[in-house]
Amino acid sequence: GDLLNNRKIAVLGSRSVGKSSLVIQFIENHFVDSYYPTIENTLSKSISYKGVEYCCDIIDTAGQDEYSILNQKHAIGIHGFVLVYSVTSRNSFDMVQIVYDKIINFCGVTQIPCVIVGSKADLEQSRQVSKTEGEELARQNHAVFVETSAKNNINVAKVFELCLAEIERATPSQAGP
Ligand code: GDP
Repeated sequence: GDLLNNRKIAVLGSRSVGKSSLVIQFIENHFVDSYYPTIENTLSKSISYKGVEYCCDIIDTAGQDEYSILNQKHAIGIHGFVLVYSVTSRNSFDMVQIVYDKIINFCGVTQIPCVIVGSKADLEQSRQVSKTEGEELARQNHAVFVETSAKNNINVAKVFELCLAEIERATPSQAGP
């Protein structure tokens, strides 16, 4: 049924790492070039995984920093997490671990279905974080890793497919094709 196949995914990370661009490229298939500070927005899209259609609510959050308190809306009832940093920002990379730890502590668990995203991979000349560092961060946190470019539409759909796969791996659903 519909309710059974509903999945909530929260997209978190520092401001201006490209969270909205990623979500908008995924849902609407275009790249937003003008920067505007995001207000929180929830968008829905159906994703097919292993022959099953899932209705995914994707919560594009405004962004976090080391001082922000985790919004309980971004933890309670959330099935999977997409933690985004920009490969051009070391600071945003460090923020991923901080946000991850806040979620783990809030939920009182040791592991969460999680995709760590190194965004803006097209900006190779401004890169501050290597792909290997991203992979290592993901490995340490039992998360999966992918580098993306919302601008060039590289690995954008993959982020959400991987997230769904992580959710289903953690709690295999009753959903059938
Ligand atoms: P958010 O605050 O995390 O939601 O970030 P935005 O999606 O608003 O993006 C911040 C800025 O980075 C905007 O100017 C985007 O156009 C730019 N941006 C986002 N994704 C990419 C990307 O993949 N490549 C490049 N070159 N710029 C990007």
